[in-house]
Amino acid sequence: MSVVVTGATGHLGRLVVESLLQRGVPAGEIVATGRNLDKIKDFADRGVRTAHADFNDPESLTAAFAGAQKVLLISGSEPGQRIPQHTNAIEAAKAAGVDLLAYTSIVGADSTTMILATDHQATEAVLAAAGVPYALLRNAWYHENYTEALSATLERGVIVGSAAQGRVSAASRLDYAEAAAVVLTTDGHAGAVYELGGDNAYSQADLAAEITAQSGTQVSYQDLSVAEYEKMLTEVAGLPAPVATMVADIDRAVSEGDLEVTSGDLSRLIGRPTTPLATAVRAALA
Ligand code: NAP
Repeated sequence: MSVVVTGATGHLGRLVVESLLQRGVPAGEIVATGRNLDKIKDFADRGVRTAHADFNDPESLTAAFAGAQKVLLISGSEPGQRIPQHTNAIEAAKAAGVDLLAYTSIVGADSTTMILATDHQATEAVLAAAGVPYALLRNAWYHENYTEALSATLERGVIVGSAAQGRVSAASRLDYAEAAAVVLTTDGHAGAVYELGGDNAYSQADLAAEITAQSGTQVSYQDLSVAEYEKMLTEVAGLPAPVATMVADIDRAVSEGDLEVTSGDLSRLIGRPTTPLATAVRAALA
């Protein structure tokens, strides 16, 4: 078996490669790919094959995917450019004749109205038309989206957003990575659609309360209207307008329940409960 992981130079891809190794896939059967191979030199030192692959460069994808049985396409990080980029990867995987192409999409992709989901929806459509066996790993949010900004949150003492009482079924990146590794190393996933999220959803107020309880520093949640939040993101935080629109729109969708998942798919795939928020906050504070 040979398994190719795109985005192995990123946070999730690195954890997927580690999970594949832990599940007993020989290092020489894993191809970790990305644009900057310096970031994954440690994998090469451990016998993992590494290959340069740029979603904008079809030839690099063809070379990296040659001989692959399974490919994990981790969505790219440049919203607006991802549809042609992912299409290049799907075509390369098809040309390689893979048994399975797994794609990290967004939870509820066929129903959410979130602007951020547009690229994922289009990618899913390309996959459906491509004629390659595929599985959809529709991921909800990472805890790390919140905990990586913890020191700034503690300094400010406030989390600002427009998510209202909306709850997010977040899990740790490692949970999603392990799920991907399970799908890549076991049979029967072609055609599967996994709605992946944490076992216990939480609101922004719940997040603020957990941070307060564990840190001893009072953090509260301040809810704004979507328009007010968007204005704050541009005028106070200095985000470019299109980014502010997308970020505020995410909270709008959260307030409508778009990131709440009840499928149980993630804990079922990984064979254990998902990482609770309290554990993620504890790890970030440490
Ligand atoms: P990350 O650390 O930013 O990693 C993104 C990966 O995509 C990197 O390895 C990057 O490679 C690769 N990439 C970007 N553009 C590329 C291109 N043109 N060609 C080849 N590779 C390219 O993000 P992450 O935390 O691992 O998350 C993985 C993906 O999930 C993200 O890219 C994004 O689509 C999505 N995401 C999900 C959530 C969530 O909460 N579910 C949050 C953030 C992001 P380089 O190292 O070469 O740049």
